[in-house]
Amino acid sequence: MIGWRFDNSYLQLPEDLFASARPITVKEPRVSVLNNRLASELGLSSDGVSDDTLARIFSGQELPEGSQPIAQAYAGHQYGNFTMLGDGRAILLGEHCTPAGQRVDIQFKGSGPTRFSRRGDGRAALGPMLREYIISEAMAALGIPTTRSLAVVTTGENVYRTSLLRGAVLTRVAASHIRVGTFEYAARLRNPDALRALADYTIARHYGELTDSPQKYVEFLRAVIARQAKLISQWQLVGFVHGVMNTDNMAVSGETIDYGPCAFMNAYRPDTVFSSIDHQGRYAYGNQPAIAQWNLARFAETLLPLLSGGQDEAVEIATESLNAFVGEYQECWLTGMRQKLGLTTAEEGDPELVQSLLDWMQAAEADYTNTFRDLSEGTAGSNHSESHEFQEWHHRWMDRLSREELPIEQVRSAMCKANPAVIPRNHRVEEALAAAEEQDDLSVMHRLLNVLLSPYSPPANSGDYREPPADDNNYRTFCGT
Ligand code: AMP
Ligand code: MG
Repeated sequence: MIGWRFDNSYLQLPEDLFASARPITVKEPRVSVLNNRLASELGLSSDGVSDDTLARIFSGQELPEGSQPIAQAYAGHQYGNFTMLGDGRAILLGEHCTPAGQRVDIQFKGSGPTRFSRRGDGRAALGPMLREYIISEAMAALGIPTTRSLAVVTTGENVYRTSLLRGAVLTRVAASHIRVGTFEYAARLRNPDALRALADYTIARHYGELTDSPQKYVEFLRAVIARQAKLISQWQLVGFVHGVMNTDNMAVSGETIDYGPCAFMNAYRPDTVFSSIDHQGRYAYGNQPAIAQWNLARFAETLLPLLSGGQDEAVEIATESLNAFVGEYQECWLTGMRQKLGLTTAEEGDPELVQSLLDWMQAAEADYTNTFRDLSEGTAGSNHSESHEFQEWHHRWMDRLSREELPIEQVRSAMCKANPAVIPRNHRVEEALAAAEEQDDLSVMHRLLNVLLSPYSPPANSGDYREPPADDNNYRTFCGT
């Protein structure tokens, strides 16, 4: 790979926050998928580099010049319970500086144990790594902030789970891997300097505009809350269910991170859960905004000593900032919903108009993505087989649109940019993973990715990818271990 420019600023933080680490040697690395499009955005090129060398690079057999591999320490509330963790199966190679002036983490997932692996083997299986590749790239194409996937390489070795699986390493690219859990870890070190150093570092890296502000920690907290409010609204607007919103899986940069049991909702149902271990529905689709606010409360607690000299005042500032989340989230969500319905102005009755569509979808078990796309393409509302309730809603919407005084073609074309035609449908993702895992056939995944990369204007003949699964009530996803 040509073009690496490493500059590893994380190493300047207090040593408690990381441990040096080395990717393990693997038997027979082979590239499953390499994201050339992303590589070129990062100023990297594989021109003239043999497949064999690429496989060695993206499995950690050959470290790029300038990399200084470490595993990051963090803590986390997992399903509400606090644990001290750390990257147990991820090794940060370092920070690459792109020609456009961005600093991004380059990280391996599944390249062997680290100081934080506890009883785990530090390895990953091919299926979950390809799953992260597909969903993260689909999210990026949908325009949602996310970590990216640069490569997946099989190791030629097995990993032992409930069955024998093919081992693999994912190369993840992120604005950073600083999590809410990283702050929870730093706060528990009982070393005020470490916490302040982490906060200053994060502000400089992700919220640079606040660096010189006299109230910078308060503004930092508010800015993190605002970014999460926006991010979660974007998830809700496309029906994305993260599945495991533990505080260690929430990035302070505002990117979606840690694709495990995530999946997209088909029929509109706020209680949609796919994760096999989420029995209580803690991380159900409809709970995501409330859980994000809960996670942010854990984040705010870590910042208390920096918010004010007085504990009472600090708590008051934190509480006030957290209370703003709901309003900010709702505003982002409503703005997004207006776009989904082709509305460019705001009227008081809009929330009710949106809610009654959602109520109808829920009662009719209508597909969330296709309902909005059909409205955008003008294929809904004229069909006599549609229910009376839906037709009534459609009249109200048409009435509302008429007050916008815009040509309908313009409304439709704007709506098509706000409502994806294709999302990574669960059965399509499974089909692609099965072909890769069982037949070593990556063509199914590449066809799927080709469609997912233009979700708002999909290629011709991609109609099949728009079909919801016949039945996904029993669809279950598993944590990517
Ligand atoms: P996750 O559910 O992927 O967010 O992982 C939770 C924690 O467990 C993280 O700190 C991971 O690094 C760690 N972990 C997950 N799988 C493994 C594994 N196979 N070996 C070691 N640590 C792991
Ligand atoms: Mg995680």
